Amino acid sequence: MTLAAGKFPSWLNRGLALLYPEVCQLCQAEPATPREGFVGSQCWSQVRFIRPPFCQRCGLPFAGALTTEFICTNCQESKFYFTSARSAAVAKTVVRDAIHRFKYSRALWFENFLAGLLVREAAPALRGQGWDFLVPVPLHPLKEREREFNQSALLARHLSRATGIPCAQGMLRRTKPTVTQTHLKRDARAANLRNAFAVPPRARLAGQRIVLLDDVFTTGATTNDCARALREAGAVEVCVWTVARGV
Ligand SMILES: [Zn+2]
Ligand SMILES: [Zn+2]
Repeated sequence: MTLAAGKFPSWLNRGLALLYPEVCQLCQAEPATPREGFVGSQCWSQVRFIRPPFCQRCGLPFAGALTTEFICTNCQESKFYFTSARSAAVAKTVVRDAIHRFKYSRALWFENFLAGLLVREAAPALRGQGWDFLVPVPLHPLKEREREFNQSALLARHLSRATGIPCAQGMLRRTKPTVTQTHLKRDARAANLRNAFAVPPRARLAGQRIVLLDDVFTTGATTNDCARALREAGAVEVCVWTVARGV
């Protein structure tokens, strides 16, 4: 069963308030309601939204007073199948904690907080730009069964509601269960992921412009392999949006 705080009926919200008193679930030291995603204003103020200057390709923020558009050295050396990757916030402090607990400890009450960050930054950038579909990065079916939800699909649904761009969850499948990426170096990560994603044979992507959604962008290996599969199936353009950006 997939649960989302924002979709709870009110009796269940009241029940949750008993289970989880209305305090910030990150610091336990300030008030915060389900509507705020159980994150209080003190913790909110630690969110670092990504602002220019950043790499035009991968969205990596650059600490400095650069005013001209630039491409980072990593992007100059890599072949990316997406035109641009953007993230709402830096994957540090409260954002990193909330994502980690949402994914690995089933802290589903952080869904509203994380989706709120994404919608706030991505929706204005995507509206009216002619994007055809939102596609969440899929989990392997075995992983999804174990976790019981796909965090990227939950986030994509919020963004779809906010932008009117339809969410097409079945457009991409994960065909290879992959070993956990965190301990691998950049090259090993890319090799581990190669051809891990595929578009089902009957999906019609010719001429489509697709927004790929994920929770965190780190090296871009995952999203790049997804973008490759979408482009090979005929998509003319893929851009990437994530809640958080590893820096
Ligand atoms: Zn707090
Ligand atoms: Zn870059």
